[in-house]
Amino acid sequence: MGIIVQKFGGTSVADPEKIHNVAKAVIKEKENGNSVVVVVSAMGHTTDYLIKLAKEVTETPNSREMDMLLSTGEQVSIALLSMAIQSHGHKAISMNGQQVGIITECIHSKARIVDIKTEKLKKYLDAGNIIVVAGFQGVTPEGEITTLGRGGSDTSAVAIAAALNADRCDIYTDVEGVYATDPRIVPNVKKADTISYEEMLELARVGANVLHPRSVETAKQFNVPLRVRSSFNLDNLGTLIIGVNDMEIYKPVAGVAADTSQVRILLSNLPDIPGTAAKLFGALAKNNISVDMIIQSLAIQGKNSIAFTVDSEELDSALNILNNEKDIIQSGEILIDRDIAKVSIVGAGMVDRPGIAADMFRSLADKHINIKMISTSEIKISCLVEKENAKEAIKALCKEFDLESAEVASVKGDLPNV
Ligand code: ASP
Ligand code: MG
Repeated sequence: MGIIVQKFGGTSVADPEKIHNVAKAVIKEKENGNSVVVVVSAMGHTTDYLIKLAKEVTETPNSREMDMLLSTGEQVSIALLSMAIQSHGHKAISMNGQQVGIITECIHSKARIVDIKTEKLKKYLDAGNIIVVAGFQGVTPEGEITTLGRGGSDTSAVAIAAALNADRCDIYTDVEGVYATDPRIVPNVKKADTISYEEMLELARVGANVLHPRSVETAKQFNVPLRVRSSFNLDNLGTLIIGVNDMEIYKPVAGVAADTSQVRILLSNLPDIPGTAAKLFGALAKNNISVDMIIQSLAIQGKNSIAFTVDSEELDSALNILNNEKDIIQSGEILIDRDIAKVSIVGAGMVDRPGIAADMFRSLADKHINIKMISTSEIKISCLVEKENAKEAIKALCKEFDLESAEVASVKGDLPNV
C-alpha cells in the first residue's frame, strides 16, 4: 500500500456529472489499497471568468486582491468533489492551501512553494480519508494567500507528492498522454510511453501546455514518478515521465512545440558601453519580468540594438520599466512585434549530434518560413517565426524528425491559437 497523488484539471471537474466521474476514479485508486490525495483545479473556465470580472471592475487590479479572488475557484471544486466522494460512501475531506500548510514566498500571482507541512495530511490519511486539496494556491508565512501562476495546480500536486514521498503522481488531463506535438495540429503524431524529465521540462517551457513547467522541475528534483494520463480513459496508462529514457535517446528529437504567448521588444540605437544590458535586464528582473530569447547585434559606430521576448501579458509593465531607463535608451526607438510564435524542437538525443539545427532551418526554409530569431540550449532549438506560420512549421518539423505514426490519434477540444 502506497501513497498516490492524483490531479484533475478544470475540464475534468467542469460540471456535477464530471465531478462524479472524478470521484469514481479517485475511489478506484483508494480501493486498490492506496492512500489517496487528490488535487483539483477550478471548475471549467472559472479562473478565466474571475480574471475577466476583475478587469471589468478595474483595469489594474491589485495583485493581492487578485490572489484572494482567484483562490476561490479551487475552493469551490474541492468542496464539491469531497461531497461527491462522500456520497459514494467513502471518507473524504477537502483542504485549501492554508489548511494544508502549502507555504510559499510572498510574490502574488506567481509564488513558488517553499515548504509543505505534512502533519495534517498524514493524520487524515491515517484515519482513512481521501484528501481533496485545492491546487494553484498557498499561503505565506505571514498568512497571506498566494497563487502559483496559471496552470499551477500541476505544481501543487507534484510538490505534495514530493513532500509525502508518494509512490506516484498522476496528472489526469483531456489527452491520452504526452505527444511529440499537439495532436490537434498533427492528428497522427506519436504518443510517448516514457519521456525523460529533461525533455518534458524543455517541452513544457517552450509551450507544450500539457504540464506546468515548474511541476516537471519539482518532479525531477525530488525524483517523483509522474504520469500524464486521460481522465476520460482510465485504462490507458498514458505517458510516464522518469529519470532516464534510454528507449528514445537514439532519436534526436522527442517533441515539437509552439508558443504564441510572447511578444518581441526591439531596442535600437543603444550605447555600446559596458553595463547597458545589465541595467536594462536588471530593471526587468527587479520587477519579476522574465525575459526569454535575447539577441544583441554587432555594434556599428558605438551603437547596437537588443531584441528580446517577454510574455505578452507582461508587455505593458515591461514598457513602463524600459521607459524609466531613459539614460540608457536615450534617443533610441522601442519597437514591438506582437505577431510572433516561438517554434521549438526538443530532444535529449540531439546532444553531440551535428546537423539537427541545419535540418530544422532547411525544413522551415522549404516551406518559405522566415526565421526572425534563434536560440539554442543543449537539448532544444527555438526559432521565432510569424504567428501565422506556426502550424505549418510544426507539421513540417514533425515530418522532418519522424514524429508521425500511422495510427491516427483522436482529437479532442478546440484548436489552440497557433
Ligand atoms: N485554475 C488555475 C488556472 O486556470 C490553476 C490550474 O488550473 O492549474 O490557471
Ligand atoms: Mg493545466
